Amino acid sequence: MGDAAFTTMLNLSQDGCQAIEDAFVIAEQLNRLSSQQAPQQAFAEYRRIRKPKAE
Ligand SMILES: Cc1cc2nc3c(=O)[nH]c(=O)nc-3n(C[C@H](O)[C@H](O)[C@H](O)COP(=O)(O)OP(=O)(O)OC[C@H]3O[C@@H](n4cnc5c(N)ncnc54)[C@H](O)[C@@H]3O)c2cc1C
Repeated sequence: MGDAAFTTMLNLSQDGCQAIEDAFVIAEQLNRLSSQQAPQQAFAEYRRIRKPKAE
């Protein structure tokens, strides 16, 4: 997530904002998991939700 997942052009001043949105979405997806589900499901869902915005 954050700079490790993507970088935008520095003059857009967006990467810090995007890292905060990433943190919110990944926390939300992890919170939705039942105790039987693997965290990988949350990470896959995070990627599906965030990829279009990052692109
Ligand atoms: C000059 C400048 C101006 C910017 N202006 C803006 C702006 O106006 N608006 C905006 O939204 N964004 C701005 N950004 C971008 C923003 O600062 C970054 O996108 C944001 O900080 C990324 O957050 P991050 O948590 O992904 O990574 P980072 O903030 O880089 O955090 C990564 C952390 O991991 C630690 N780390 C690294 N390796 C390891 C390791 N092996 N073990 C443990 N810890 C490790 C590092 O020490 C660091 O604390 C600016 C960036 C720069 C350089």
